[in-house]
Amino acid sequence: MKRVILGGSDLEGFRLEEPAASVRLLLPSDDALEIPVWQGNEFLLRDGSRPTIRTFTPRRLDARALELHLDVVLHTSGIASTWAKTARRGDKATVSGPGRGYTIDPEATAFILAGDETAIPAICQLLEHLPPVPITVHLAVRHDDAKIDLHRDVDVTWHVSSDEPTLYEALVTGIRTVELVPGVRIWAAGEAAAMQRIRKHLFDERGMARSHANVRGYWKRTT
Ligand SMILES: Cc1cc2nc3c(=O)[nH]c(=O)nc-3n(C[C@H](O)[C@H](O)[C@H](O)COP(=O)(O)OP(=O)(O)OC[C@H]3O[C@@H](n4cnc5c(N)ncnc54)[C@H](O)[C@@H]3O)c2cc1C
Repeated sequence: MKRVILGGSDLEGFRLEEPAASVRLLLPSDDALEIPVWQGNEFLLRDGSRPTIRTFTPRRLDARALELHLDVVLHTSGIASTWAKTARRGDKATVSGPGRGYTIDPEATAFILAGDETAIPAICQLLEHLPPVPITVHLAVRHDDAKIDLHRDVDVTWHVSSDEPTLYEALVTGIRTVELVPGVRIWAAGEAAAMQRIRKHLFDERGMARSHANVRGYWKRTT
């Protein structure tokens, strides 16, 4: 994971109203940062190609310094991951957003949060905003180094494995074993197939109301 800090006067007026919101990060193509224009049904560059845009969680906004912090998972391939690995002070990128975050249900009696490394920024934000009720966290990471201090007294289980099937199996099993007390709300995000299994388990096997769980695929394995 690498923290990238975006800064500039265009962040004037940028607000984060809810935790776990998202921004769309526009990255340069061929070293030039060209702002795409709306072409009827999508944003395209002047030559008709698609811009390089990825979605990230704004981990922290410093409205005084006009700085936006993104925590980017460094994985083996990927334009955003490679960009974050090599980004230097002064490099250009831009963001749009924020997209809607998580609306905290004031009636909730407990929360279960789950995800992989890409969900850590959102989970950290949620932990800064959730009310003082019991919170259980399940996090799936590939290396012990990815474990971080969550800065809150929660019941956390770290699932660690460099083997992806083992890792996601452990995460899904973790959710299978959680107790769903009345009033509990679930937030989960990460690899799409694992999230689909969690959704199926909660809604189909345990009959949880769809409005009580927010489970979102953050990225899709394509290899
Ligand atoms: C609402 C939302 C919030 C998100 N917040 C964050 C965040 O805060 N931090 C963050 O790091 N990501 C976050 N993501 C996920 C991020 O958008 C994706 O991981 C994105 O695909 C990374 O782009 P890339 O250019 O590096 O890889 P891509 O070009 O999209 O993919 C290249 C290859 O890498 C694989 N891949 C993509 N992501 C990962 C990964 N994380 N681990 C392993 N393999 C991967 C793909 O399957 C593909 O084979 C968020 C996604 C959403 C929808």
